[in-house]
Amino acid sequence: MSAPAVGPLDGAREQLADAVKLLGYDQGTYDLLATPRRAITVSVPLRRDDGSVELLTGHRVQHNFSRGPAKGGVRFSPDVDLDEVRALAMWMTWKCALVDVPYGGAKGGVRIDPHRYSTAELERVTRRYTSEISPLLGPDRDIPAPDIGTDEQTMAWMMDTVSVAQGHTVLGAVTGKPVSLGGSLGRASATSRGVVHNILAALEYLGMEAQQTTAAVQGFGKVGRGTARFLAESGVGLLAASDQHGAVYAPGGLDVAALESHVDTSGTVVGFAGAEPIDGAALLELDVDVLVPAAVEGVLRADNAPRVRARVIVEGANGPTTPDADRVLTDAGCMVVPDILANAGGVIVSYFEWVQANQAYWWSEAEVEARLAERMRRAWHDVRTHAAAHGITLRTAATCLAVERVAQAHQTRGLYP
Ligand code: GLU
Repeated sequence: MSAPAVGPLDGAREQLADAVKLLGYDQGTYDLLATPRRAITVSVPLRRDDGSVELLTGHRVQHNFSRGPAKGGVRFSPDVDLDEVRALAMWMTWKCALVDVPYGGAKGGVRIDPHRYSTAELERVTRRYTSEISPLLGPDRDIPAPDIGTDEQTMAWMMDTVSVAQGHTVLGAVTGKPVSLGGSLGRASATSRGVVHNILAALEYLGMEAQQTTAAVQGFGKVGRGTARFLAESGVGLLAASDQHGAVYAPGGLDVAALESHVDTSGTVVGFAGAEPIDGAALLELDVDVLVPAAVEGVLRADNAPRVRARVIVEGANGPTTPDADRVLTDAGCMVVPDILANAGGVIVSYFEWVQANQAYWWSEAEVEARLAERMRRAWHDVRTHAAAHGITLRTAATCLAVERVAQAHQTRGLYP
């Protein structure tokens, strides 16, 4: 009999249980933190362009708001389900606490394959979903942002829907908006920048020279593409890249600028002339120094983790490594820089965007970049020193630091009534 499938929520709860145990908290604290404060599931009826009506399902989960308004992305994907959204919302709570932005965690999603719908249909889905979850939203309550399958246009529609309902423009209602509509300079590249800050910090810690280092990046979307570009700018040799259609590999290094032009014209990394095609799964097992899973959850599992050869894994995606795989990789001496640290650049600059929007006062790109770099440096330092002091992994250290901050906020606020 095969073991039951371990989904992202099982993984997230296992990570939390480890941290709660190390921190010496009781079962009640675990239960409080393992369970979302609020979750809403909504029907999203969509009028298709041909006039037919299709019923979609959406969710918004607010995992925690003890340290401030709930914060997290909205995902449009055929794989969305409530448990996945619950896990992603929990990770947002830890991520925001870890990098010390004054938010709790949330996540939303609509179960839809956005590639199969027109722009007009996606606008209707976005507006109806936003309207259905609107009792939960607002700059002081819950602030959505882009995630898989959504982008700055989606955020513009969400902001407009909230604003029309209120009768005035609410710039702080969402982040990841277009710069022309109150978005922040540097937000679009923030997650990738943060990932590369972490890669360079990890290499420095391990005494490895960026110029002598190789990498592979899984995913060429909002996170993977920028990561590939900034890695190349830092002198790291990018040997392989992939997207949902396939992967490409060049043992001598990919020309990232040429790969980006190829993707702009063809929509995929597949068919890039400067490389050989490889299987998407094989990318994870290449002989490279740094592996960046920047696509979806659960790609590194007990079955393929023993074949991973990278010395450092930096999680651009949320939840790419299952707890079983984590143990295998740690035992093999691989350093895993966990998602809640590695990809926190996005929510850090979302925070900057919200601060700017609420004050209607805009910062220069250089100011955004400098503040992001400073926060990433501090978070890396906190996690690494905590891990070293307690002889634990970076993931356990990051989760413990975050959980402790959230639990302390609970404790200090007290229980009502
Ligand atoms: N979706 C991104 C994440 O998973 C960004 C969330 C945000 O900026 O609120 O971190």
